[in-house]
Amino acid sequence: MNTIYLDNNATTKIDPLVLKEMMPFLTDYYGNPSSMHKFGGQVSSDIAKARHNLASLLNAQPDEIIFTAGGTESDNTAIYSALEAQPEKKHLITTRVEHPAILNVCHHLEERGYEVTYLNVDEKGRLDLEELRGALRPDTALVTIMYANSETGVIFPMHEIAKIVKERGIILHTDAVQAVGKIDINLEKLPVDYLSLSGHKIHGPKGIGALFVRKGVSFRPHLRGGHQEHGRRAGTENTAAIVGIGKAAELAQINMEIENTGVKHMRDTLEKGLLKTIPDAIINGDTENRLPNTTNISFKHVEGEAILLMMDGHGIAASSGSACTSGSLEPSHVLRAMGVPFTFAHGSIRFSLSRFNSDDEIKVVLKELPPIIKRLREISPYKNEESTPRSCSCK
Ligand SMILES: *Cc1c(COP(=O)(O)O)cnc(C)c1O
Repeated sequence: MNTIYLDNNATTKIDPLVLKEMMPFLTDYYGNPSSMHKFGGQVSSDIAKARHNLASLLNAQPDEIIFTAGGTESDNTAIYSALEAQPEKKHLITTRVEHPAILNVCHHLEERGYEVTYLNVDEKGRLDLEELRGALRPDTALVTIMYANSETGVIFPMHEIAKIVKERGIILHTDAVQAVGKIDINLEKLPVDYLSLSGHKIHGPKGIGALFVRKGVSFRPHLRGGHQEHGRRAGTENTAAIVGIGKAAELAQINMEIENTGVKHMRDTLEKGLLKTIPDAIINGDTENRLPNTTNISFKHVEGEAILLMMDGHGIAASSGSACTSGSLEPSHVLRAMGVPFTFAHGSIRFSLSRFNSDDEIKVVLKELPPIIKRLREISPYKNEESTPRSCSCK
């Protein structure tokens, strides 16, 4: 049975063209790009090409791109860089709905004496920009706000955020791992200082990412050692993966239009079809400002994990959002921050599509899912409860 893969915000399939581009670097071209001989030098021009492709996708300069080992490293590097560059400033601002690669760094920093402001979101997952404005302080070292939410697809108004933060001269980082390749990002017009992205979220390989650091903005390396990446990230380059993310960036640019037409159309068909055939279902998040590939739907009185298991039995792969500890019955931190009622939050499913999905696959989901929900509701222990506030204690 072929899997219908609708979990592209967790990771994506490597585009076959990316793999083809990478293969020679795992076989014949194994030279170290730092070596003096031709064997190494040749590889270094392929790295330069990849850097150029990434810069071009973001409308940045190639020397503003630092390769890292993924989105997590880029996020960590950005935060620690801003703090180390301004040791007298002990305050950070972020949001309640960030990826753990941001939130857990912030929690760690709180234990080390930093103060962190976590901005709230409303019931649609939107920020209050006045709350952001009010949170900025003279000792704020960094504002780090994600571009688009992995679980709901909600896009934050990054241009307005940048205007507010940069007026005060504070360093601004955005985790754009979910936004890159799905929506247009033009760093010549968008004055963020640091931006994180990841290879495996854009049909490239895992374990490779990049951090954009705007020219002239303070930067302190997270990894020290050799002189790779102009001394900004030490360690022998992961050449095959770098070539892979470069090709993925090139293809993302070419396919951006498809993301916003074909992929969006499939997502909308899925969403409308499910709302029409399944009662007591709601969409989570601001549908006006949302990634074209994502929908997060809650089905009242059913457990997301049960839905996932039954869909899995039909070869459909999706996600229940990130339950904070696997096996726990706590709804995701994002839905809790949005105040989604308990009876809905537990039954939430995230479908995230890609250009490798087809209309036929969406038809299969529309046929298989309604009877699954019906059956689970028949056996649900909650079906007679209304909004029982079973407490959520998970941090
Ligand atoms: C996946 C993801 C990350 C982590 O990226 P890795 O390359 O897996 O380390 C960070 N932020 C967001 C928003 C993500 O979706």
